[in-house]
Amino acid sequence: MTSATTTAYQLCNSCAVAVAYGDMTALNTESTAQVLAFMADHGYLTQADDIDPPGYWLCECCGIDQLGAGRTFTHD
Ligand SMILES: [Zn+2]
Repeated sequence: MTSATTTAYQLCNSCAVAVAYGDMTALNTESTAQVLAFMADHGYLTQADDIDPPGYWLCECCGIDQLGAGRTFTHD
């Protein structure tokens, strides 16, 4: 095993689909630009766990407050 740390990002479901499959259809134009910038910054991310954090949480991809389920992605 390596000792490399794995970074996890919390993404909303719309961003999760965009990052995982390149499907931007669920995003508005402003978010699409954010998502593309996020993907360019972070490279290839792997889908990890479904999450359902309590209360509001911030999608690290589009930067929009979220309420409800999302998904984490990890970066090797
Ligand atoms: Zn998002």
